[in-house]
Amino acid sequence: MDGLSNIGTIKDILSRHGFTFSKNLGQNFLVNPSVCPRIAEMGNAREGFGVIEIGTGIGVLTNELAKRADKVVAVEIDSRLMPVLAETLSEHDNVKIINEDVMKVDLRRLIEEEFQGLEVAVCANLPYYITSPIIMMLLEQRLPVRTVTVMVQKEAAQRLCAPLGSREAGAVTVSVRYFSEPELLFSVSRGSFMPPPNVDSCVVRFTLREKTPAGVRDEAFFFRTVRAAFSQRRKTLCNSAAAGLGLPKSRVTEAIAAAGLPENIRPEQLTMEQFIDFSNQLL
Ligand code: SAM
Repeated sequence: MDGLSNIGTIKDILSRHGFTFSKNLGQNFLVNPSVCPRIAEMGNAREGFGVIEIGTGIGVLTNELAKRADKVVAVEIDSRLMPVLAETLSEHDNVKIINEDVMKVDLRRLIEEEFQGLEVAVCANLPYYITSPIIMMLLEQRLPVRTVTVMVQKEAAQRLCAPLGSREAGAVTVSVRYFSEPELLFSVSRGSFMPPPNVDSCVVRFTLREKTPAGVRDEAFFFRTVRAAFSQRRKTLCNSAAAGLGLPKSRVTEAIAAAGLPENIRPEQLTMEQFIDFSNQLL
């Protein structure tokens, strides 16, 4: 439907369907017409691509994705939006809506069944209450996906895209960089949404690595080490890793020395290679 991200059109559609926003489902819908085309274009919605969208709202982004990509499969949890989408997306025959919680969808199977012969991208204006779990679920599964382009809260974007070794880095930063190359694309003010959230947002793009970093001896233990290292903010690596992994401090001190790191180093100062070496030394 044309003019779908026009605030007047959106208000009219929502009132005709008697729709009220659910705060619990992170429903802040985009009402700035310039944002969705940019997400679609920077998010690989183009010929030869199938796009998975998470959280359609009334379909403003879905509409822009469907105009550009070969096929769009969109997952939306709120069944109240189904009749709205039937109206707003009626002109597209390349869109399939799945009324389900995205965390319960078998995305590998979905890709196999829906996107034969196509490259795959994910695009979304994510519900903020579940941003990191969705991003990690998409990355950790090693899905055959080229890029994940998502709108998230500004603070989350800064943490997700922080360089390792910087103050903003956290466990999620290390995990995201293990699987992908993150980029901060552009900011979106809170006034671009209805209802406006309390913070500004950013669109970020993760380009998935064909190969994750070499040298990790036990991947599950590597991620446990990373989570433990950042479990107590502003503490040294030694103290947080020992507490988080339930190991004696002497054992962790030895591993820090064996990895050639200073005794009082903080977790946010480590590079990916140093994290890998440190977790290997603890095995
Ligand atoms: N794409 C729309 C837009 O930009 O206007 C809506 C974005 S809104 C921030 C997030 C959407 O995600 C809402 O429509 C909400 O109902 C949906 N949602 C929330 N939790 C979900 C989940 N677990 N699985 C699928 N969709 C979800």
